[in-house]
Formats: sequence, C-alpha cells, structure tokens
Amino acid sequence: MAEDKGSARGIRISDTMLKAMAVLIVITLIAAVFVVPKYGKVFKAYVAARSEYKAAQAGYGAAEQKNADLSQTLEEMESMKAESDRLSAEVFKLAARTEKEIQEGTSTKKICYITLDDGPYNRGKEFLDLFNKYGVKATFFLTTANGDKLPDQADLSAKSMYPEYIKFGHTIGNHTYSHDYGQGGIYSSAEAFMNSVNNQQKFTEEATGGAYTPKIVRFPGGSGEAGATADDIKDALRKAGLGWVDWTVDSGDSWGSDRASAELIKSNIREAAKDQKIMVILCHEWSKDSLEAMPSIIRYLDKKGYIFLPLFPESVMVQK
Ligand SMILES: [Zn+2]
Repeated sequence: MAEDKGSARGIRISDTMLKAMAVLIVITLIAAVFVVPKYGKVFKAYVAARSEYKAAQAGYGAAEQKNADLSQTLEEMESMKAESDRLSAEVFKLAARTEKEIQEGTSTKKICYITLDDGPYNRGKEFLDLFNKYGVKATFFLTTANGDKLPDQADLSAKSMYPEYIKFGHTIGNHTYSHDYGQGGIYSSAEAFMNSVNNQQKFTEEATGGAYTPKIVRFPGGSGEAGATADDIKDALRKAGLGWVDWTVDSGDSWGSDRASAELIKSNIREAAKDQKIMVILCHEWSKDSLEAMPSIIRYLDKKGYIFLPLFPESVMVQK
C-alpha cells in the first residue's frame, strides 16, 4: 500500500520532505519579510555610496587639474618675479654707479627720489595713477598706525594696497607699525622701535603673500626725533640688515593747513633743485596738496634733467 501514499503523478512525498518544504517556506517568508528589505536597504546604500564615490572621484580629478593649473600659474609668476628682480637689480646697479658719478662730478645726470609717508591711504591710488602716467617710480613708507583700514575709506583694506605699490615697481619702505613717537612710544628704547619695525615687516610680508620684505626704514618724524635713543636704534637696524633714510627736501605738505599748499610745495622743491643733484623729497600719501602739485613738480624736474627712481638699499642716500 506504500504506492497509495503518493500523489496522482506517482511522486511520493515523504514526511521528511514535507517537513523540509515547510522549513523552506518559513525561511523564504523570513527572507521576504526581514532579509530582502534589509538587503534592499544595504543595496541602496551601496548604490548611493558608489555614486558618491564617483562624484568624489570626479571632484578630485577636477581639483587635481585645478591644482596643476594653479601650480603652472605660480611657476609662471615666480619666473616673472625672478625676471623682474633681475631687472631691478640691474637698474639699481646702474643707479648706484650714476650716483657715484654725480657725486664725483663726472656725470651731468640728476636723480630725484620721491618719497610718500604714512600710507596706505586711498589717495595712494591717485598717486599711483599719476606716477604711471608720467613713468615715475617712487618710494612709499608705510605704517599700520591706522589698522587695516584706509583712513579715508574705511571699507577698503589697507592690505589690499600693498601689492599695488610693488606691481608698478615702486619701493615699499618701513615707517614702523605704530608710528607712535609720543611719550613712551617707539623712541623710548631701541627695543620698542625694533618691535614696531618688525611688526611692520611682518605686516608687509603678509600683505604681499611673502613676496616683499622692506629693506629701508624711515623714522617717523625723521631720525632727529629719536633723540638720545638714535644711536642704539641705528645699531639695531644695522644688526637687522636694514638701512634708513631721511630727506634732503621737505615739500612742506605737513606744515599745517594754514601754511601747506600746492604752491608752497612747488616752490620748496624748485628751490632745492637749484643745488641738489640727488634729492630725496618728503611728501605724504594723505596730502591733497602734494597730489595737486605733483604733475607740475614732475614736469619741472624732468625739464631740469632729473630721473625719478625708487629708493634701493645700495643707494648713497640710504644710511647703513
Ligand atoms: Zn610719518
């Protein structure tokens, strides 16, 4: 009778097989209810992770390309800077020789160093435009006494002006960070003075992305203001490898609003041009009068045979 337990097709299903089938059904159900949705979630997460990875890879590729482009630009800029440094060095060598010849009386040339103190000021841009127009190179003695704001245009950062000066081949000098020459200020000790000088050096380096370190200092108020501390300060400057420069003609632009005028500035400089073959003119970047007088001064001195150069460390006018 064993055959009768089978199905109509004659396939015999044993108890064991039935049990096995039941287990399989249960497993399938469990899988359907728990495992498959979980696996689905995992799969979805995998797909998401993979597309994220792909996107990251694409981003990395783009970043790498950008990096390559940037480093090429940087290389180009560095080679441009090296070239301009080389040219400047050549010009300065020639200028130093000319200075010597002028002093020995073997050259009929004349040199004018225009210097502008107390910047950056927003008026600096107008001076820069003017100097560009006349092909004049000058020297800007900068301070951070006004913080990182342009005193006459508070929404502009002073830092953003620094690259402008060097871009056009002018010299940036150090006019101390604080410009504070009152009681207990920079002239109270050589250490106080050098602290202010070093802070200004740091600020200039930051503002120019490390491309520029000043080599020449101008004492606020002139080196005469340092009084009894002057010798100690000069020793400290020498040790730091820095030169300093005063002026041979004061334009008079800081003589007070009742006295200073474009006419006074012009006449002071014309007077100095009578006997100074190498002159260092003191002006201020904030002076409207100096800005107004400048085109006429440049034309006048140009006619008298002066060439306009930025100060350089080896110049005879820079004390060491
Ligand atoms: Zn000053």
